Amino acid sequence: MALRFFNTYSREIEEFEPRDPAARPIKMYTCGPTVYSRAHIGNFRAYIFEDLLQRHLELRGYKVHRVMNITDVDDKTIRGAREAKVPLAKFTEQFKQAFFEDAKTLRIKAADEFPSATDQRYIERMIEMISTLISNGLAYQADDKSVYFRINKFPNYGKLAHFDLTQLQSTGRVKHDEYDKEHIGDFALWKAWDEEDGDVKWDSPWGPGRPGWHIECSAMSTALLGDQIDIHCGGVDNIFPHHEAEIAQSEGVMGKKFVRYWLHCAHLLVDGQKMAKSLANFYTVPDVLSKSYTGRELRYALLRVHYRVPLNFTWEGMNEARESLTRIEDWLVRLREVAKQENGQRSTSYAERPTEKADFENALDDDLNISAALGFLFESIRETNRAMDEGKLDAASAQAWLDWWKRSDSVLDLEAEAEIVVPPEVAHLSEERENARREKNWKRSDDLRDQIFALGWEVRDTKEGPKLARHASCG
Ligand SMILES: [Zn+2]
Repeated sequence: MALRFFNTYSREIEEFEPRDPAARPIKMYTCGPTVYSRAHIGNFRAYIFEDLLQRHLELRGYKVHRVMNITDVDDKTIRGAREAKVPLAKFTEQFKQAFFEDAKTLRIKAADEFPSATDQRYIERMIEMISTLISNGLAYQADDKSVYFRINKFPNYGKLAHFDLTQLQSTGRVKHDEYDKEHIGDFALWKAWDEEDGDVKWDSPWGPGRPGWHIECSAMSTALLGDQIDIHCGGVDNIFPHHEAEIAQSEGVMGKKFVRYWLHCAHLLVDGQKMAKSLANFYTVPDVLSKSYTGRELRYALLRVHYRVPLNFTWEGMNEARESLTRIEDWLVRLREVAKQENGQRSTSYAERPTEKADFENALDDDLNISAALGFLFESIRETNRAMDEGKLDAASAQAWLDWWKRSDSVLDLEAEAEIVVPPEVAHLSEERENARREKNWKRSDDLRDQIFALGWEVRDTKEGPKLARHASCG
């Protein structure tokens, strides 16, 4: 069955055709975090959807080149740095690191490139694009010295969001007074420097200032992926004005269709409500981990609902995620046992040939229908468990199911990590260290910690006592 996706641009399910069937890899651009605070689990829902998309394309034999930008200069990051009284780069760095840490916890595959907007090479590219837009008559400098995109000169403006421009109302005031602009919907490409920006500024042909958020993505995507992208993703709240503006800018410069498929992920609700700091239902990844759930459990909870359907996050749902993963684990343990046996008995049941049962992958081909794919997984677990109860699953079939799982899990990435075996020497040193701590012999405790570290391990003191883990430099 052919791969097909719902394209926000056409509002239709379309068969996926890469820009040139012979041209590999698939070029994919995903709007990344704005690093002014730690990303919340709603942001990560979108990143997990993109991860699932990339992995499924890879399962289907495509090579994917994915770029995810980091927005490290905009109104919010500048405000945050000013309030924290630290330079912008220092302020954003902590949230960049937090983002990478959380993405790793959730097993999100790293993009091939993570360009940052403040990288000089992209700032130059933004200035170059704005200059082209001005010479094409698509942009102008207003009296406030900022440069705006002239939406009336771009006939397709509003097509992605399906907006009628005559109906366009102000969607929140932009920083500068609107009388400077020709049309209320004209958006800033270059924001002239003002006092609130402090030392955040770059020189440009229009005077000192900084880029608008939308031009950042157009510059980084075209610089790294060329004039046309196969798939561009984001959350539904990115559709307007952000992605609409990206199309206008990129096509205004390149004179060519910018994106073939636009895919957008629906919102995450918490207990049926929109997440908001004021409602105390605003969670980050560490917030969820602090309630003793794992990254794997959160990954499952965030990926199990079809991406175009709003997902309601609840603690009940987290417990269900835990139960579902336990069912998978128990099933794998049983399959591995049966696969080892030489009972010679032929399977007679449903469970015999998983390879002919392509339902899981077909479901994902159908606009990434994860709910149907997981439905098939759990039905298979039920059926094969029954076959094993009745002794009707032979070793070869069990192995075939394990192989099937391995392939399916290359998309899901839900399997538990192999149990960590701590070498006796390290375990002994760790016990010694515990004794030293009980005796409040901190010097000895520290020495032992160093010895453990030298052997490639580290001790983490948790509420349940010390835990040993391989330290990062040892892979
Ligand atoms: Zn973007």
